[in-house]
Amino acid sequence: MASSPQAWPQRLADAATWRRAQGLWRERLTSTRGMLDFAGNDYLGLAADPRLAKAQAAGARRLGAGAGASHLVSGHLEVHEALERRLAELVGRPRALLFSTGYMANLGTLQALCDSETQVFQDRLNHASLLDGAKLAGARSRRFHHRDLDDLDRLLARAPSEAARLVVSDGVFSMDGDVANIGGLAEISARHGAWLMIDDAHGLGVLGAHGDGCVGRAHGVEHVAVLVGTLGKALGTGGAFVAGSEALIEHLIQFARPYVYTTAQPPGVAAATLAALDVIAAEPERRERLRDNIAYFRHEAARLDLPLTDSFTPIQPLVLGESEAALRWAGRLREAGLQVGAIRPPTVPRGEARLRITLRATHDRECLDRLLEALARLPGEITR
Ligand SMILES: *Cc1c(COP(=O)(O)O)cnc(C)c1O
Repeated sequence: MASSPQAWPQRLADAATWRRAQGLWRERLTSTRGMLDFAGNDYLGLAADPRLAKAQAAGARRLGAGAGASHLVSGHLEVHEALERRLAELVGRPRALLFSTGYMANLGTLQALCDSETQVFQDRLNHASLLDGAKLAGARSRRFHHRDLDDLDRLLARAPSEAARLVVSDGVFSMDGDVANIGGLAEISARHGAWLMIDDAHGLGVLGAHGDGCVGRAHGVEHVAVLVGTLGKALGTGGAFVAGSEALIEHLIQFARPYVYTTAQPPGVAAATLAALDVIAAEPERRERLRDNIAYFRHEAARLDLPLTDSFTPIQPLVLGESEAALRWAGRLREAGLQVGAIRPPTVPRGEARLRITLRATHDRECLDRLLEALARLPGEITR
């Protein structure tokens, strides 16, 4: 008897059952702005800054709500060009190229640089978009232990000698908050003839003397050939860019399919990002307030014996282990009006589910104390 093809409704139901059984079912919460947000990535509090909204509205009025076409057709406007120049300047590179999202910047860059022959070396905890980018390129990623330079060195030494090599790492690790050793990665990459690509999504605007991130002007193109930054986090808007040499950017314009085959970013968003860059340059006190908040939170959390990691960035995870524990803690905090992410596999390794607490320049002491008070009550209240 001929068997019939698997039915789609059953396929979807099976996947849902499997995910629920593992405690990994994801739900979108409709964010109400009344909640205290310790979950987002708006580290400088710029997303709701009226100056950005005003620039965005003015940009839309002047240039239209949408770009109307891809960059290579007729969607590349003066405001995009101006933004690319400013971003390149911020991170001390000859050129920058705008992408619609960070996810697409990573897909496009890896797909344009790599093929099945390329040797790609990735930190184990790299962002999903970096792993997916290598897949899109048909390249195999070898993954080195998290921040382990000796492991990377060993893997590079074993790679076929004629193949082009690319070492790829997050700058600030998005679920852990720790920072890559950029100098160390650059030295090893150079020694093995590899290019280094850093995704500084969470460092840009926050780290560096000018908010230029953990790479920025401190490490030039000779150390980090490919630098990715995103604009939806500390910069408060949306989109992303890749910065590097003239040759790199031209290569991406020619070959990065997620750049070529998509509509350019709405001009208002680019105008808002220009306003965000002005704020970042004019108000270094935002970065100082953020640093003060991080120090205060860590000091108080340590007194409460909370399971802190050694992150000095705004990402302060409390690793709880089981997915259920992370969900329960996040649920209790939500009842107290505090929004915190419960991060579970596959976003983090199995057994390392966590609360991902993020801090902002615009949290005041009262906000932080409310969070700390709620966290202090949790270990006693929650029993398995
Ligand atoms: C958020 C993030 C991205 C994706 O950026 P989007 O602009 O949100 O698509 C890429 N890399 C890292 C490390 C991130 O944290």
